[in-house]
Amino acid sequence: MSSGVYTCGGCGAHLSVAQMRGTDCPYCRTAFPHHARAIEHAALVQQVMAQNMAAVTPWMVPAAPAAAHQLQAVVDQIHHAHETARRTTNRIALAIAVTVAASVFGTILCAVFFG
Ligand SMILES: [Zn+2]
Repeated sequence: MSSGVYTCGGCGAHLSVAQMRGTDCPYCRTAFPHHARAIEHAALVQQVMAQNMAAVTPWMVPAAPAAAHQLQAVVDQIHHAHETARRTTNRIALAIAVTVAASVFGTILCAVFFG
């Protein structure tokens, strides 16, 4: 009884519809032509979609995480620079205050002792 609806191009075996639901011949593992075309088509679609994504939204390509990391590093640097500048300004203000206070104190001392 020959129930084969398809003849394998690899080994010539007659394959049933159930066997044709697979991706390749169960006897010689030759990929079915329709399945091979489906794989090629899927790969082509993925390629075109990746190209369109890269062209329209550059930040969505796989390199995006690295770019985001670099951006975060720059933001951290700016934040750090602001912190350093703020602390430096505080030190300068403190130095001026100490200088002025010492100057005033010295003037008062002079006035007290020599005035
Ligand atoms: Zn075969």
